[in-house]
Amino acid sequence: MECVKCDKKAIFLEPTFCKDHFIKYFEDKVLNTIKKYDLIDKDDKIVVAVSGGKDSLVLLYILNNNFENVEALCIDEGIQGYRDKTIKILKDFCSKHNVNLNIKKFQKEFGKPLDIILKENKIKPCTVCGVFRRKLMNKYSKEYDVIATGHNRDDISQAILMDLLKYNLSLLSRLSPVSGTKTRKGFTKKIKPLYFISEKEVMAYSIILGIRTGFEECPNVEDAYRLKVRDELNRYEIKHLGTKKNIVDWYIKNHIDIKEKIKNSELVLRSCNRCGEPTSREICNSCTMEQKILSKDTLKVL
Ligand code: SF4
Ligand code: ZN
Repeated sequence: MECVKCDKKAIFLEPTFCKDHFIKYFEDKVLNTIKKYDLIDKDDKIVVAVSGGKDSLVLLYILNNNFENVEALCIDEGIQGYRDKTIKILKDFCSKHNVNLNIKKFQKEFGKPLDIILKENKIKPCTVCGVFRRKLMNKYSKEYDVIATGHNRDDISQAILMDLLKYNLSLLSRLSPVSGTKTRKGFTKKIKPLYFISEKEVMAYSIILGIRTGFEECPNVEDAYRLKVRDELNRYEIKHLGTKKNIVDWYIKNHIDIKEKIKNSELVLRSCNRCGEPTSREICNSCTMEQKILSKDTLKVL
């Protein structure tokens, strides 16, 4: 099959493009999203939250090629056999593309790696990991103007559906291409430049440019509900092409109304008495968890 723009062989079917036209289509789509939603100012200091997976590496690659001040931030939870592998990939990528990589470790920040925390406590891995990761991302993104994440259209449609099914309007209201703001104390502007790009497109771009070809999954992945929604949505997409795009399009048309609806019921934020991070309570979620699951000896040295 031929590319719809030239007579070269197509390497991607929907849309039908040859290699060069696909790359141009992909990069234009990301840069247009940045422009349309005012995600980045020319002089912004940008940090990309990276895991070593294809989405965050593709995002880092494009932002680094198009903006001046781009760095990478990775959280090393301490998951042996998984995170050590992705960090190696990340280090090679950043040294090849001349990007400053900051790695923040659970071991240093909380006194123990996730593997040990899980051995010592009967607790769901993603619950503790999610809370601690968010805390470190928030803490170490403050010196930047924006923090960019590699969520693609498939991730977003899945999150929208999950929040709708659970009727969690507060989480639902934070799924637009830009959330968080510098004007709100303690927060950095969060952006999702791959918002309108499908997972398939990210995968193709990543393979064509040799950014990332392998796939590793965290051995602790256990959010059964999320996986169920993901699988159902994938099944539905195969039967009814365009379902994920329709969900995201619906959200984009309605997210301002959703935000307005929850505005008045939003909790007032203050600073955590222990760590100073924003929270609605006296002690933030992460500090409460640290106090519960880390030993007294560990807490003393924090
Ligand atoms: Fe952490 Fe769960 Fe993600 Fe693994 S799957 S990195 S434990 S949040
Ligand atoms: Zn705290």
